[in-house]
Amino acid sequence: MQVNREVNLESTKPKFSELLAEREVKERWEKVRKYFFLRESTYDMSNRCNIRCDGCYYYEGEKQFAKEIGDVEAWRELMRAEKARGITYVVLAGAEPSLVPELLDVCYQEMPLGSIATNGLKKIPESVGYKLHISVWGNDETSLRIRKAKNLLKKQIENYENDPRAVFVYTFTRENIDEVKEVAAELIAHNCKLTFNVFSAPVGYTGNLRHDDESLERTKQIMIELLKKYPRNVLFSVYNAVAHTHKKGLHDLYGCSYPRQNPSQDIGLGRSFRQYRTDLNWDRSVACCVPDTDCADCRHYAAGSAVVTARLYRHVNSVDIFKSWLDYVDTYLSVWVMGYEKGENLCAKILEPPHAATN
Ligand code: SF4
Ligand code: SF4
Repeated sequence: MQVNREVNLESTKPKFSELLAEREVKERWEKVRKYFFLRESTYDMSNRCNIRCDGCYYYEGEKQFAKEIGDVEAWRELMRAEKARGITYVVLAGAEPSLVPELLDVCYQEMPLGSIATNGLKKIPESVGYKLHISVWGNDETSLRIRKAKNLLKKQIENYENDPRAVFVYTFTRENIDEVKEVAAELIAHNCKLTFNVFSAPVGYTGNLRHDDESLERTKQIMIELLKKYPRNVLFSVYNAVAHTHKKGLHDLYGCSYPRQNPSQDIGLGRSFRQYRTDLNWDRSVACCVPDTDCADCRHYAAGSAVVTARLYRHVNSVDIFKSWLDYVDTYLSVWVMGYEKGENLCAKILEPPHAATN
């Protein structure tokens, strides 16, 4: 978690001490600030996948052609070097990381904080104690059509029911908005945890999954409805819903801090973030957590967890917007960090992101 604190908080109004006047706000601040040490980078573990989805950003651009290095010792060395340069959190993605369990094991041995983005078809061994983000793109009928995978949700639940590592990530596309209700009901019946993502088109994508203003608004409403209905299982907040369904994408709203959009190498992600390909090389000019995604359409949950959390200083001009930011960070930590439990949300108001009108 890379919080950008380049302004003097004491110079803003209200004073920072006034923002912390309510006991539960102060406690939440103290709870989340313990994680300000997190410094992330991401790693493509495999260039193979056991399914093929419409709109997959991995199979866009150059990275899909990188050679796969399956040598466990090469990965151990990389993890040690990453630790030495200050990385404390790894995001293992791909294509499909579950296809290389021996590499996941070695990463976990060297770097104990992290998460894995997986389609959930193949179970990741329990020895790998990272958070697991299991991607859900609709009900089984939709998954068959878009991801060419049969009974996907059923298999995902079989693999990860009662697994404290697992968070199911429902990606809203323009076409699957109402289906979320039946999917959420099924996941909650199995006491699974659920969070939300918004489809963010890969560069050049022109298919039907891309959102428009109307689908974004409907997505926001249904996110908030499900959050109210299942507060214990849905890891989200009203401000998450606002930030990820705004007409403007995350870069326009907050200014993306990943190297691909951020030339500064002075502080934060611009300085430390790398996105390694399967051949263990990286390229600063294209580095971000969702490479080959169209920045103008980027509302991805992984991008937001870095971009919104980094903008603390924009969220200190009222108690409500500060509470909203705390809800966002609390959500992010509960989704990404093993053992972190989500608290009750502090703000249920729908508030515009600061600077939304001017950016
Ligand atoms: S499961 Fe993930 S990596 Fe595999 S094709 Fe689908 S979106 Fe791409
Ligand atoms: S795709 Fe998203 S996270 Fe990546 S550089 Fe663009 S705005 Fe940032």
